[in-house]
Amino acid sequence: MRNKTRTRLAVTVCVLGAIGLAVFLRRPVDYRSDQFLMDTLVSIRVYGRGAGKLRKAVSEAYAEMRRIADLTGRFPLAGSAGHAASDVCRINDMAGIGPVRVDPDVITMLELSRKHHARTRGAFDVTIGPVMDLWGFGGKHPHVPGDEELKSSLAMVGDAHMHLNRKDRTVYLDKPGMRLDLGAVAKGYATEKAIQVLKRNGIEKAIIDAGGTIRVIGTHARGVPWRVGIKKPGSTEDILAVLSLQDSAAATSAGYYRYFDSGRRRFHHILNPGTGYPAMENESVTVVAGDAGLADVLSTALFVLKPEEALEIVNKLTGVEAVLVTSDGRILYSEGLADRVEVTSGERRHHGEGR
Ligand code: ADP
Ligand code: MG
Repeated sequence: MRNKTRTRLAVTVCVLGAIGLAVFLRRPVDYRSDQFLMDTLVSIRVYGRGAGKLRKAVSEAYAEMRRIADLTGRFPLAGSAGHAASDVCRINDMAGIGPVRVDPDVITMLELSRKHHARTRGAFDVTIGPVMDLWGFGGKHPHVPGDEELKSSLAMVGDAHMHLNRKDRTVYLDKPGMRLDLGAVAKGYATEKAIQVLKRNGIEKAIIDAGGTIRVIGTHARGVPWRVGIKKPGSTEDILAVLSLQDSAAATSAGYYRYFDSGRRRFHHILNPGTGYPAMENESVTVVAGDAGLADVLSTALFVLKPEEALEIVNKLTGVEAVLVTSDGRILYSEGLADRVEVTSGERRHHGEGR
């Protein structure tokens, strides 16, 4: 009898232990992984049940980002495997020669770019490649170009000379020397594709931070929206404002990310396609939108425009908001941002308020 009781007790303890272990293993956990991709440190953080499942989802998301990075890479050496794998390199090599068949995602990125070229009256232009190269922004020795060479590089820029054929999946740049540069769109687009991969893997809470482009799924582990800081231009640590994000993206374009100094002036990598010179209207532009690809394109596009023009465009778009730090020191917000931004320093001004 006693033996029976003892056995029953042992079985109960084992069962409870197994249940406890199962509950422990299935408790929500945090998994984070960082990788260097697209010229920046990308960090993916997911939260949910089953460490193995989270790890698999994140590794598939990185593979998708890497696929977009490979398709859009502009600097792999000619003749290398990376060069052959890059649709952008192949399109550029065939400029003035003939159309190139590309991945459907490349067509989608170019269509998105074209839409914003039209929307911003040419401020956004992915055919800016020859002028980017003239300044040397992709290389080790950037420099201020001369007027004549700038003029001849600008002659090879023009959205109208890019021919997209969705049905045949081809792209053709019709002038020799033309070059696409998807630096303003690929990172955001890749981030969005990675988010789709996480969702397909059942992930309900995640944040991808791709250096200036952030996209979140759901809320933070504690059930509150993710909080994203907007940096104060000219400072490495100070935060100007904090945005609350839930199932959305925020992208920042700024003059302080990539630049060089020459004489007493600073030159950064976001160019005004009208002049070929760095755009000087804004210090930084942050765009909040449902889609990271759209946020990335718009942040660069609006950065080039005059602040008032930029706000006018944003205020007409549904589901898109922006914070602008203008070159003359104003901080401007689009109309719908009031309840989603906490200002930590500086004065708060809405569109229309003068200095
Ligand atoms: P980051 O790459 O630092 O996140 P952006 O998203 O603003 O910044 O993209 C800047 C990149 O966009 C440049 O490095 C260049 O490749 C490209 N670019 C620069 N000027 C323009 C422009 N006017 N239109 C489209 N792309 C541009
Ligand atoms: Mg951008």
